[in-house]
Amino acid sequence: MSLDWMDVERAREDEGQDPASLLEGLNEPQQRAVEHGEGPLLILAGAGSGKTRVITRRIAWLVATGRARPDEILAITFTNKAAREMRSRVAAMRAAKGMWIATFHATCARILRRDIELLGPWTRDFSIYDTADKNQLLKTLIKEAGWDPKRFRPQVISHMLGEWKASQFDTERQAAPDGLEGEVFATVRDLYEARMRAANALDFDDLLVRTLELFRAQPGVLDQYAHRFRYVLVDEYQDTNHVQYLLTRALAGWHGNLAVCGDPDQSIYAWRGANVANILDFERDFSTPERAVAVVKLEQNYRSTPGILGAAQAVIRHNAGRKEKDLWTEKEDVDPVRIVECGDEEDEANEIAARIHGLRQSGVPLDEIAIFYRVNFMQRALERGLRLSGVPYQIVGGLEFYQRREIKDLVSYLQVLVNPADDVATRRIINVPARGVGDKSVALLEEFARDRRISLAAAIESEEARARVRGVGRKGLTGLARLLEDLGGLRDGPAHVALVQILEETDYFVHLAKGEDAEGSSRAENVEELLAHAERWDAENPEGGVRGFLQEVALVSDVDGWDPDAERVSLLTLHSSKGLEFGAVFLAGCEEELLPHVLALEEGDGGLEEERRLFYVGMTRAKERLCLSWARTRMRFGETSWREPSRFLSELPDELLETDESEAEAREADVLGDFDGAGAGADLSVGDWVEHDHFGLGQIRSLEGSAVNARATVQFREAGQRILLLQYANLKRVGN
Ligand code: ATP
Ligand code: MG
Repeated sequence: MSLDWMDVERAREDEGQDPASLLEGLNEPQQRAVEHGEGPLLILAGAGSGKTRVITRRIAWLVATGRARPDEILAITFTNKAAREMRSRVAAMRAAKGMWIATFHATCARILRRDIELLGPWTRDFSIYDTADKNQLLKTLIKEAGWDPKRFRPQVISHMLGEWKASQFDTERQAAPDGLEGEVFATVRDLYEARMRAANALDFDDLLVRTLELFRAQPGVLDQYAHRFRYVLVDEYQDTNHVQYLLTRALAGWHGNLAVCGDPDQSIYAWRGANVANILDFERDFSTPERAVAVVKLEQNYRSTPGILGAAQAVIRHNAGRKEKDLWTEKEDVDPVRIVECGDEEDEANEIAARIHGLRQSGVPLDEIAIFYRVNFMQRALERGLRLSGVPYQIVGGLEFYQRREIKDLVSYLQVLVNPADDVATRRIINVPARGVGDKSVALLEEFARDRRISLAAAIESEEARARVRGVGRKGLTGLARLLEDLGGLRDGPAHVALVQILEETDYFVHLAKGEDAEGSSRAENVEELLAHAERWDAENPEGGVRGFLQEVALVSDVDGWDPDAERVSLLTLHSSKGLEFGAVFLAGCEEELLPHVLALEEGDGGLEEERRLFYVGMTRAKERLCLSWARTRMRFGETSWREPSRFLSELPDELLETDESEAEAREADVLGDFDGAGAGADLSVGDWVEHDHFGLGQIRSLEGSAVNARATVQFREAGQRILLLQYANLKRVGN
């Protein structure tokens, strides 16, 4: 699979800096955008029209023509992954040194690392709390305030906090809820803010908001950046929120050399505060009497076949109040857009897996195939289907890795080294590996820390505090104090060195091996992976050190852990598919209340239109093949419900479609008994007992189909009745 800007300048590596060569392979409006001189530029265009390609080329062009040194360029992407890709593309054009290519969050983190002390009370060693850390802390505080976290849920308060923070800059965001909820919120919020300051920590919202605050409080700091970054470029501008808009404005306001690109039809983050008006009003907003915004529209789509493009446009046309775009493509159709009706989620998964086998046989590489879904719970059924039929896959969700217990433990150790004030991290490691420090001892220490207004780590280091703890706990704490002191010297060195030392001194692998759960060995593998990652990171960032590594780890987003070139099918949510492209796309669960999602429907037209844009984003990722599936029943929370096909399916033009039934569906209509005992499963007959790798022992109830379609219905002892394709199922006969 390739990212959208992937094929940019492969051939140009040796030519390096020739500006003319940077215009090759671009159409006329694309060239115009790349060659735009000074002043604001808006690239407003539909999916797959080369916006990201233009941004990447423009960066290289600015450097190649000597308009800007690399370190005078700031480019903002939507994910770290996109930033990395863009950086490597730009580097291939020999233009990257000293350039900032990053997400808004990473850009702000970097600015704050340098200057946050001017804002106080934070220091440059601040910790970044991810959503899980934040929710954990909120849960503690809700309890401390005497409320029940089941009634006032941390996730809900977390969202309110974000709104509240943004609301000081954005009047459209909700400052505070009313009533009791509002009271609880205000109490918890104040506790949270105080605790975050004491812990020298920032959450994701803080990164953006504090940077704005810094710019307001210290205009000199803003001036430095505004002068340094003579060119600012922002990809996926339709999904910026108001705070991001203000940041962009602040950074580029002085010179106005701001290029943004985006597609209002792909704005899918309104629920997180994104405001599509930022792009719609850009022209008016950034034009000055001296200089109008240059607007470039791109109309040729280079990604998708006419059938896919036409179908996607037919759907998005159902949104009201949008500007129609004339997108066209020179590509030729390969396959009609397919709609597949399935029996249930399992049938859907098997059907997708079988089709993937088919694609593979016709030469489509696995890294060009992706399966999208609206909601995470759908992932499991899809995974199972792929596993059963032996299709290698990867889940695009790097976040999960860093949420694993063992990874969080080790990262917390690093965190404490760099920022001893970080009580959340200290709490995490205080008894990991077990050193006899129970909840009571922790409570004693916390009380001591509170009384003295010191951090938990400082309490651990205090002999007086430790003396209050009885028994083994005291010894354990003394050991920990010594350990932290020993490790202290490593905070300024490379991350992997510190990690190795932590692993050794804590006997961490022994701790894992002793663990109660059966996951010990996979946990050890994860630790190895973290170590390898740290080593790679240290090599690439010789000056980064533990601090830099932590920053990188704190800002990983969903798509970061994903290897686009691995010989695997990619599984991802619709939201993370933005900006990507694949030869073949399967969009599962095209059902009412799933896509459009039930919660969005409750929000009325706005919600529905955002879901339609999401559907449009999904469709327009496909280059040659697009398969939209739905199931008549689906299991969730242990309950099976009847489903209706998504209204978006009925918005597709009939002439571009091919409607199929899934294999299993088709078979039901089939007369039984056309089983042809050649090939896989030749030795099987009805009534045989068989063993399956995943489902265990079962008995064959019926056999149908022939060759690659030969399949068995098996009644498994534990797993219930399953229909399996014999070619992939690898059933072993164990008796009859
Ligand atoms: P999205 O809206 O999904 O973000 P986009 O507008 O950013 O899409 P790109 O990802 O830049 O579009 O480009 C889509 C595909 O078309 C990529 O594979 C890109 O390499 C290719 N492409 C873009 N412009 C051209 C061109 N002039 N000639 C050939 N291929 C092109
Ligand atoms: Mg793009």
